[in-house]
Order: sequence, then C-alpha cells, then structure tokens
Amino acid sequence: MAAIYQAVYGRASSLVCRLHSTYVRKMRYLNELKEDDILCRQARTSGTFYLFHNLSPFLQKVGKKYVVPQLSAAEMKRMLEKLRETEQCLEKSVLIGCSDEHVPHFALDLGALEKSVMESELNGSFTDLRKALFVVDEKDSPLLASAQSLLRWHDSHQYCSKTGQPTQRNVAGSKRVCHASGITYYPQMSPVVITLVSDGSRCLLARQPSFPQGMFTALSGFCDMGENVEETIRREVAEEVGLEVESLWYSASQHWPFPSSCLMIACHALVRAQQPEINMNTLELEEARWFGLEEIVEGLKREPGSSKQDNGSLLPWFPPKQAIARQLICEWVKQQTSQPA
Ligand SMILES: [Zn+2]
Repeated sequence: MAAIYQAVYGRASSLVCRLHSTYVRKMRYLNELKEDDILCRQARTSGTFYLFHNLSPFLQKVGKKYVVPQLSAAEMKRMLEKLRETEQCLEKSVLIGCSDEHVPHFALDLGALEKSVMESELNGSFTDLRKALFVVDEKDSPLLASAQSLLRWHDSHQYCSKTGQPTQRNVAGSKRVCHASGITYYPQMSPVVITLVSDGSRCLLARQPSFPQGMFTALSGFCDMGENVEETIRREVAEEVGLEVESLWYSASQHWPFPSSCLMIACHALVRAQQPEINMNTLELEEARWFGLEEIVEGLKREPGSSKQDNGSLLPWFPPKQAIARQLICEWVKQQTSQPA
C-alpha cells in the first residue's frame, strides 16, 4: 500500500513540479538550500561565486563597461590553490540566489587574503560599492547591494547580543543561532520612508548639509518603533518641514545598502494648498523649498553638479536613476503633465 501510495504520490508531485513556473521552482529550491545544510554544501560545489574584499565587490572592465564576474567552483579552487588557501574559505560564502537552471550563486568576502594577488590573477579590481553601484549594469546593482548587505550583517553579528556568546551560521548564511540562549538571528533591514510632498502644483525637495553640493531630494526618515508607514510619513513631514499631510499613497520600495541595509518605502504625500509656509527643522536640513513643474523638468536633465548659477552656486540637481527618490520625482512630473489644465 505504501509503495502504491509512493508511486502515485511521487508521480503527482513531479507533475505538480512540472506545472509550477520556473520562478516558483526556483524560489522553492532556494528555500530548500536555506533549510538544508547538507544540500546547500553539496550545491556549493557546483555553484558560482561573486567576490568581495572587505565589502568591496570585484569588477572587471570589459571595453567601456564594468561587469560583475561570477567565478565557477573550479575557478575558485584554482585561485585558492594559487593563494595557498584551502577550500575552507568557501565556508564563509553566503547564498544570494540561483539561475533558472538551479545553479546557486554565492557571495564571498576574501578580506583575509591579499587583494593585489587576486586582482592581477582575475584581471579586475575590488571597487568601493558606492562607486560600483553606479557603473555596473542596472540588473547587477540590486544583486551587489544585497550581497554586500548580507556579508556585512554576518560580519557584525558574530556574537549574541544577549549572552555575548559566539553565534553559529547555517551553510546558506540565512540565519545565525546562539546555542547558549537559543536565539535565532535573521538578517535585518531598517525600514525608512521616503516621501515626495506636493501641494497639488508644486513639490517639496530638501537638502541635508552632508549632501553633495546642489543635490535636492525627497524627505526621508527611519520608522520609529511601533509606527506604521503612514504614521512615519506624517511625523517626518511635520518634524522636518512643519507641514501636515492630508493624504498619502504608496509608490514602490527598494533595498538600499547605505549606511547599512535599509528598506526604502517610497510614497507620495499631499499637504493642504492653503497651509502656512515651510517651517524647516534646521537640525536636520540645510534647505527645503517648493519646486514648480518647470524647475523640476529642468533639474531632471542636469548631470550631478554640472551647472553653475551667476552667483557661483550650483543649480539644483536630483538623485540618479538608481535611487528611488528620482522615481518619485518622475512620477510627480507625470501626474502634473497628465492632469487636465
Ligand atoms: Zn545568546
């Protein structure tokens, strides 16, 4: 009976498996790798590796483009032999995804090894992530950002924050456990809201003193403990520019690796048109003001820090397309231009 059940069930589950989309099968496979250390260690022998050195990703320049190379397990082995290192190094790698064909991808920080030897051996260079994100292909930026964030999280969570005992990671690197207290730690991100405030015909952009000269962007702030997204937006807008939000709506979200793993939640907010003027919080902001449609459209065309005004200060420019703030600004332009006059 068990054998019959097995045969029928086995056939049914393989049929289900075939009926699943490539995406579903891939996600199920990744989940198995996270849950099963033996399977994950086995998969690593045929996986590919993205390299980092003290959290800087390895890039190669091909023509005018920068690419993020994936090293095969065989190439990794060869390089480690050259550096007189054992494959023990690979234990530090973290699972970051897999191909449609279920080839798992890992990220590995080789900060303990000599950088220049690897760079000349692999014909490329370890590049600061802030720089790397803006020169690689758009599809590679999120991958570099999430890989670095996961590596950074492991680096800074080697000890239990309750007992001070060392924590142990699983093979995939999706969690760490303290065996003294039984606490399981999962990689964390801090939620941040980024809000483009509009009064219906103008939008509000601001600068912090630490921003590059001339750059204006939407307001942003961390969610306080216990707050929902709506409450954070209302509080941040009140705190930073002294305005009261009337309505708000969600646009999109993005993982941002600086200063360390934020989940940026991007929203639009409308304030009452007849409200008093901006009352800026000078502890946080250097400048905050309303921008009309024309000024925004002009600003979007400008390269960072490219145009000077008569008085020598820079004309306003906005964050690059990799930043979700720019998406909010572009959406606002679209709303304005699609509204009947
Ligand atoms: Zn503990």
